[in-house]
Amino acid sequence: MFICTGYAAQEATTPLAPFSFERRDPGPRDVQIEIQYCGVCHSDLHTARNEWQNTLFPCVPGHEIVGRVTKVGNEVSKFKEGDLAGVGCMVESCRTCANCREGLEQFCDRGFVGTYNGPDKDTGHTFGGYSSHIVVDQDFVLRIPENLDLAAVAPLLCAGITTYSPLRHWKVGPGQKVGVVGLGGLGHMGVKLAHAMGARVVLFTTSPNKVEDAKQLGADEVVISKNPDEMAKHVESFDFILDTVAGDHDINAYLNLLKRDGTMTQVGAPEKPLAVSAFSVIWKRRNFSGSLIGGIAETQEMLDFCAQHGITSEIELIPIQKINEAYERMLRSDVKYRFVIDMASLKDAA
Ligand code: NAP
Ligand code: ZN
Ligand code: ZN
Repeated sequence: MFICTGYAAQEATTPLAPFSFERRDPGPRDVQIEIQYCGVCHSDLHTARNEWQNTLFPCVPGHEIVGRVTKVGNEVSKFKEGDLAGVGCMVESCRTCANCREGLEQFCDRGFVGTYNGPDKDTGHTFGGYSSHIVVDQDFVLRIPENLDLAAVAPLLCAGITTYSPLRHWKVGPGQKVGVVGLGGLGHMGVKLAHAMGARVVLFTTSPNKVEDAKQLGADEVVISKNPDEMAKHVESFDFILDTVAGDHDINAYLNLLKRDGTMTQVGAPEKPLAVSAFSVIWKRRNFSGSLIGGIAETQEMLDFCAQHGITSEIELIPIQKINEAYERMLRSDVKYRFVIDMASLKDAA
């Protein structure tokens, strides 16, 4: 075991604060990474505050991790010391169930091991990327393209794959009208990716000050969702809508914008249940579905797609000492469009 430094929430109601903890030394198939940047996902906040009622404390969040390999086990073939490497939302799965064998580790029958808040035989539960180092089996470590800005790549490991996977699954492409709801960390990646896949993209936002940015990021049109007249113009016109909203909202307002047989996929995970009117889906035989991150192979495919298309996240780099303030700003939708922690700041005074 070796000592790592990081930031943790000790309980749901306390702010994140400096925390030291142990990780396992790299085993034969493990990669040890010195973390350079870690994105701040809204799931980190939901978990640190126990909003999904499943948090194991102390909680070190963070699952948008990039850094340099500092050590590898003697059976590791995919990475060597000095390589760039990334870790997303999962660090292990059973590898033998039908879902794992299909590369859908996120749906592992025995449950995947989350990068944080998952079971861990050495430390009780896993600790995430708001920390100095991480040790992960090579099969759950991603290759990071060298041509992209490293800090801006970090959010691809969750926000990128969580939006890429449903867009691919529902075969979004040229000739389709695609909606993205919410311009936050996930939403802004959804806009960039759907645009790169060739769709006509409409962004729905509650924040009028984001309209120009959304167009720059690839939206062909922006709708202020609080304005019923603007919404009414789009009734029954969408092939696909991706809902990334983190809080309570009326999803029927979006379901009603789908064409016959159109699909809306929920990736945002608000604390409270969402109310679906039966008529929103009966009418026009619409589909309402969900999607959970993406498998490891698909995450690599997404990173390679982003490298090819020059896609990264729009970020605001923060020192870790500003993490609690960043959470408050994220709740006010005051982030353009993803906070990323510069992990070098861990060495500064708390
Ligand atoms: P985020 O950066 O906070 O973005 C969420 C956006 O939703 C906000 O920027 C805002 O956009 C809009 N919004 C927030 N509250 C709203 C409300 N009450 N009504 C209407 N719009 C609201 O969060 P994120 O990191 O993108 O994460 C979004 C959600 O996805 C979270 O619940 C997170 O836990 C979940 N998530 C799910 C998966 C998965 O695998 N399914 C993976 C990662 C994250 P506007 O200002 O444009 O309205
Ligand atoms: Zn996430
Ligand atoms: Zn499995």
